[in-house]
Amino acid sequence: MNIHEYQAKGVLREYGVPVPNGVAILDAAEADAAAAKIPGPVWVVKSQIHAGGRGKGKFKEADAGEKGGVRVVKSAGEAAANAKQILGKTLVTVQTGPAGKQVNRVYIEEGSDIDKEFYLSALVDRATSRVAFVVSTEGGMDIEEVAHSTPEKIHTFSIDPATGVMPHHGRTVAQALGLSGDLAKQAGNLVTKLYAAFVGKDMAMLEVNPLVVTKGGELKCLDAKISFDSNSLYRHPDVVALRDETEEDAKEIEASKYDLAYIALDGTIGCMVNGAGLAMATLDIIKLYGESPANFLDVGGGATEEKVTAAFKIITADPQVQGILVNIFGGIMKCDVIARGVIAAVKAVGLQVPLVVRLEGTNVEEGKQIIRDSGLNVIPADDLDDAAQKIVKAVKEAA
Ligand code: GDP
Ligand code: MN
Repeated sequence: MNIHEYQAKGVLREYGVPVPNGVAILDAAEADAAAAKIPGPVWVVKSQIHAGGRGKGKFKEADAGEKGGVRVVKSAGEAAANAKQILGKTLVTVQTGPAGKQVNRVYIEEGSDIDKEFYLSALVDRATSRVAFVVSTEGGMDIEEVAHSTPEKIHTFSIDPATGVMPHHGRTVAQALGLSGDLAKQAGNLVTKLYAAFVGKDMAMLEVNPLVVTKGGELKCLDAKISFDSNSLYRHPDVVALRDETEEDAKEIEASKYDLAYIALDGTIGCMVNGAGLAMATLDIIKLYGESPANFLDVGGGATEEKVTAAFKIITADPQVQGILVNIFGGIMKCDVIARGVIAAVKAVGLQVPLVVRLEGTNVEEGKQIIRDSGLNVIPADDLDDAAQKIVKAVKEAA
């Protein structure tokens, strides 16, 4: 689960991490009061969307002005005017795709006098099973490009969970960023606090770009991006409260209500599969036969008829879907439950596109009989290969 920059800064502030002060607004009517709360002399007006690259982004609407999604200004009046100008407008960045994202929240923040910009991130490193930190002097810019062309400028180390952050980690960061004296001490404190925040809130990723040194000699997080491990949300109601559903795919939100592992993709064939491995194989084989999947969907092992019905409704509600492939290998999952769920969903929402069903395993005969008795126009398939070929052929013929 992702959150906005201003929320991420709020989480980090709880752990004593140095971040600038600011006020977030959702309504242009709040802009003047928000800007007046920041003392100046510099204000930063920041578009809040779940995508990076805002500084270099461009608004679609001409009346949003020429400047990007992050604006540095010299008076409270200008800050408020810019906030009003960009609220509700659509920002296009390298991460939003060409459609862009509507800016529904704006963060007005105290400006910092930047001396140097660095990069810092923390993530769960599966290779070492530890939290790893990545730091670089090349902040503010495209870190992927730095990693590609000058990998020696990227420094990585991981934290042993048994000891936590040790003084030598602080020294590693200070050395990598060329910091000495008090700034080196600040770097050590920062890593300690960021690690505490990361572990305390079950983060999956934390990115600070840029981490800056101000002209006044302070280390500060000027940007913050956090994503949390979704499997841990049950123990963090405060994090769940930060969720902004307008930033998420509506189909994925609906799927999460039923505890379905669903990810929207951009192809034409809707897939309902049980088991993540079989779901991946199903996506691959659809590609092999020349079409693209519209989603990844794992209904799980113990899905109920209700859950299957919900899953099928989510697939059919996607206007991109031109055909549906149900591919179930019944182990714990029972084929008759799947069959009943599919039929219940079709009865509720109708079926405008070809449907191929491949059932195998527990209660397979019962499942097939239920589908035959339903009188639905279902194309039966015997195995995965046959199923993929049939749905691709049906979609091509219907087009
Ligand atoms: P992003 O483009 O979405 O990553 O948004 P950032 O929060 O990183 O802001 C983009 C850029 O704006 C930063 O890299 C900084 O160069 C600049 N910026 C952000 N805050 C300030 C500030 O307080 N003062 C100054 N001078 N520049 C800032
Ligand atoms: Mn940034």
